[in-house]
This record gives sequence, structure tokens and C-alpha cells, in this order.
Amino acid sequence: MKRIIYIPFDHLHHKFGALKEADPTKDVIAFVESARMSIGREWHKERLFFLISSARHFAQSLREEGFTVEYVKAPTTIDGLKTIQSKHKSLPITCAEPSSFRQYQQLKDFSATFVPNDFFLTPRSLFTQWAEGQKSYLMENFYRKQRTRLNILMEGDDPVGGSWNFDKENRLPPPKKYEGPAYLKHKRDEIDQEVAKELGHTPTTTWATTRKGALAQMKNFFDNHFADFGPLEDAMTSDNWALHHSLLSPYVNNNLIHPSEVIDNAVKAFNKGTVPIESAEGFIRQIIGWREYVNGMYWFLGPDYRNNNQLNATRKLLPLFTEPNTTQMNCVKETITDINNRAWVHHIPRLMVLSNLALITGVNPQAFLNWMREVFIDASEWVMVPNIIGMGVHADGGLMMTKPYAAGGAYISRMSNYCKSCTYNPKLRTGESACPFTTLYWDFLDRHLETFKKNHRMSQQLFGLNRLNDLPELRIRAKEVLLGLEQGRI
Ligand code: SF4
Repeated sequence: MKRIIYIPFDHLHHKFGALKEADPTKDVIAFVESARMSIGREWHKERLFFLISSARHFAQSLREEGFTVEYVKAPTTIDGLKTIQSKHKSLPITCAEPSSFRQYQQLKDFSATFVPNDFFLTPRSLFTQWAEGQKSYLMENFYRKQRTRLNILMEGDDPVGGSWNFDKENRLPPPKKYEGPAYLKHKRDEIDQEVAKELGHTPTTTWATTRKGALAQMKNFFDNHFADFGPLEDAMTSDNWALHHSLLSPYVNNNLIHPSEVIDNAVKAFNKGTVPIESAEGFIRQIIGWREYVNGMYWFLGPDYRNNNQLNATRKLLPLFTEPNTTQMNCVKETITDINNRAWVHHIPRLMVLSNLALITGVNPQAFLNWMREVFIDASEWVMVPNIIGMGVHADGGLMMTKPYAAGGAYISRMSNYCKSCTYNPKLRTGESACPFTTLYWDFLDRHLETFKKNHRMSQQLFGLNRLNDLPELRIRAKEVLLGLEQGRI
């Protein structure tokens, strides 16, 4: 039977989803560039450029393979599908299960039929089965199951290298003046230029918009960065914006590359014997562990999970999140400048600078979540909701993480070179030169003392709080800092 196969902008793989059994002699392939997606929010232009140009390139590659492709612009996805349906005698619409609750419901209401979403390594039903059998949803438990189920980095029933996790080896601070191998630059073609012109944007050369470019990026990572990835994966430095991170998340999230392809290449590279286990395991855990876990939790926890605000955080988004010149905090300034430049920073600035700051200042979780969704190139709904609500700002009361990821300036000082040229001193918690992270870390514990008293995993931190002899002074400084942050003075 003839059908219209709808391809959302994150299903760009010919061998997976609804396209894997597509027939060029019968099927019509539909893409919709909705105004809701392109101008509905304050999206980072680099992100929009990447998503739209990737989709247009992919549509073009299907045309070249002989498919009938309809690529329309419309106010909403459903409006676009109606236009395509009216042109093709009301053919039925099919699609791989979408990656967000909202799109799933919209397409269902429009009577689209779904094929299972196989853009991940774990079927949604399998994850639900795992989660329903857990007392607490520890990622580490899920990850070990994945290693065994997928038989990756295993020797029989045991993990290769004798341990499931080599994080202790992977916490090096950045070396001084560290440059490392150059990152790939991606040339821009006519389609890129057309999209850039429509958006009024000058794109970077950082992100590929074709499968060929994405594969080149993957090869570059495995050839030049994989071996050094692990030890420096948590380091932050103003000398090198990416260190040895793969930069593959945008392509795995829009599916120019399927996660199984990344894993196959990682295992092949490791088996050559030149990549240390701490790099291989650390990277593979991100793909088969964390990424799959977060997607599984998004679907398992349901659409209302994103509205959690169990710490009652009500502060508006601080001006420094959008304008780096409104802060003197060097770590934040560097991070926001990097985001403004290329819509990306790695997981530690996201967690320990941005989310940590939102957490300890009490920024409203949904305001922060919306901002994070807008500015990162790889920020799919399914990634960001659990990552922010559960991990980043502990708004779910500990459903995902047993304790909040709150930290003072000492962590950032140890893992970066940012503090050396900062106005503030990470060791001080009171006074004009005190690091805002350090002041607000203690103030955060103090503000939520009654809640955290019930959590035995917080006892060490609360013991530390109890020993402070300058709490009254610290509370006064915290109030000044919070006001200063709101006014863009700190
Ligand atoms: Fe950031 Fe504090 Fe270090 Fe400054 S001193 S860079 S604010 S952690």
C-alpha cells in the first residue's frame, strides 16, 4: 500500500525508523519545517541552522536515491502534513514513534500510525521492564545490565579490565596551555548557505550537516581523540574549548549517525589495543549507559515529570545566562561565551557550572530547562528533561539522583583554570571577594536544611555546614550575592 512516511528532524537515518522499509516506487517521504520549530522560541541560531540544514541535506539525499520527497514549510507539523496529504490523495501517514510526548500525541490525534522507535539501543518496553523492577533507578545498575545484555567490554560475565567503571582515573585537571589536536572544520555548501541566509546567521564550521561530515567527525574522534578522552573528560580550560570530547552528540541525537555505529567503531578502536580502558569505558558508558538511561527515564516518568519543582525554586532566569557581560564570575562568563559561539559546552560546565548555579541560586527549574533547551545544539526534549529536572537542579526530590549536584568554588577551581583570572576567590565564602559558588553552596544547604536532614546521603555536607562558625555573616553575604546576580553586578 502506498503511504506517506513522515520524517521528524531527529530521524535522519535511512536504515532505521520508518525509512528502513521504504519503497521509492510507492512511498512519499514527508518533511515539515514548522514555524513553531523555527521561530516559536528563542532558539540559538547555530542550533536551528544545524537541525534545518541537516534535514534539507537528508531530504536531498533521498531525492537522489529516487524517492518522492515533499519538504514543506508550514505553521505547524500537522498543517504541513495536511498540505502533503491533500497533494497525495489522502494517503495514510506513518512515522517512527516520535521522541517527545507532545509530538507523539499530536501525530496520534492526527491518526498517524507508528513503527517502533529503534533510534536507541534499548526498546522503551525493555527499559520499563527494568525500571519497574528497581527500588531506586540507579544509572549504574542499568549500565551494568546494558554491558551484559549488549555484550560490550565483557569477558564472559566480567567487565574487561576487572571493573565496571574507571571514573577515578578520569578526573584529571586540565594541563597548562593545553592545545591538543585540531578539530575538524566543516565546509559549507549551497544548502548550508541558503539556510544560513534565511536565518540571518553566519554559521561556524564546527558542525557538519551531512552524514558524510558526521562520519568524518566520528573518524576524527576515534583516530585523534579517543585515547585521551577519559582522563580529561571532566576538565575545563579556557585554552581548549572541547579537549578530547567527541562532539558526536548532535549527530547521534538527530540520527545522522545511529548509536550502534558509534559503539561498533568504539569497540573496534579499543580492540586495536592503543586505547586505554578508562577512555574506552568512559566513552562507551555515555552511549550505552547514560544516553539510553535518560531516554528510558523520560518515557518511564511521563509527561508531568518536567513540571517538578520540589525545592520550590522561584527565581527568574538570571541575566548572566544570556549575557556574559553581566557577570564577573569567570567560569560563567567563559561558559556562556562558548555557548554563544557554538551552542555547545561539554557535560561538566553544563552540570557543575550552569546547573549548579541554577540549583544553588534557586532559579525556577522550568525557566532553566527552557533556556537549556534553546541554547544547546544537541538539546532534545528527552535529553534535557531528565538531565535538568532530575540531575541538574534536583527538582524531582531525588527520584533520579539520590542527592543534589551542588558544589562550591573548590570543585571548579580543581577542574579548571578559570579561577586564576577571576575577580573572586574560590576559597572564600564571606566578604566582597568570596566566590559566589562557595557562598551560595553553603547558603543552599542552610536554606534546605530541613529537607536534606531526611537524606542520609547528605549527612557529610550537613556536618560541614554545622561546623561553620560564620553562618550569620554568610547568610548576609548570600543575600547580597543573590541580589547582585539578579541585577547583573556579581
Ligand atoms: Fe567561578 Fe568562583 Fe572560580 Fe570565579 S572563583 S571562576 S566564580 S568558581
